[in-house]
Amino acid sequence: MKPLIGITSDLDPNGETLVQSNYSRAILRAGGLPVVLPAGIEDINEICSRLDGLLLTGGGDVNPLVYGEEPHQEIGRLSPERDEMELALTKCMTDKDKPVLGICRGHQVLNVSFGGTLHQHIYSKLSAELVQHNQQAEREFATHSVDVIEGSKLAGFAGASEVQVNSLHLQAVNVVKAPLVVTAVAKDGVIEALESTEHRFVMGVQWHPEALMNRNDPTSLNLFKHFIEAAGQAY
Ligand code: MN
Repeated sequence: MKPLIGITSDLDPNGETLVQSNYSRAILRAGGLPVVLPAGIEDINEICSRLDGLLLTGGGDVNPLVYGEEPHQEIGRLSPERDEMELALTKCMTDKDKPVLGICRGHQVLNVSFGGTLHQHIYSKLSAELVQHNQQAEREFATHSVDVIEGSKLAGFAGASEVQVNSLHLQAVNVVKAPLVVTAVAKDGVIEALESTEHRFVMGVQWHPEALMNRNDPTSLNLFKHFIEAAGQAY
């Protein structure tokens, strides 16, 4: 049987469940079976026990109160219901050592779930000169480089010490707590990827590999392939 992968989704103001089709396409292409999880769903333990892997998708900002901060004036759209559900489900999955891949907002949720914090608005919080992280090109095109940390799982997937990624974010990971470690950094120092040193597959990327896969980006293909492989392994 194909590994069953839960995909988190947004609840728009009209009450519609929204999720970009690139996520399920990427999971199918890598050999998994995607299922979309409505935001705010309550049966976390049952969902957690049935899923073989969890994909935390992109979206709005995490409520800063969750990581102990007051909201910056430039904070974007919040969805506290979604935060609560994703954080609880991530905790359950990682407690059971089931694979989790966090993308963009999902990478940030993953960091918060392990007690980390976020830069709420990188252009007003970080003093260094920053590259453009909210690209104006279509999302399937890479626009900035990241240095991949040697010895990480991500480095194995990338097969190079530097890769090009797309970038659609105004927030970034700030404090990172063990067992998560930083595995990729943009040229301006912004943290772009994380992984756990204690789990089979717990990884976050600030970019959108599911969109880069539309142009057959090899690192993105490898990332999804290993995610689905880990989800399919008996443990
Ligand atoms: Mn970026």
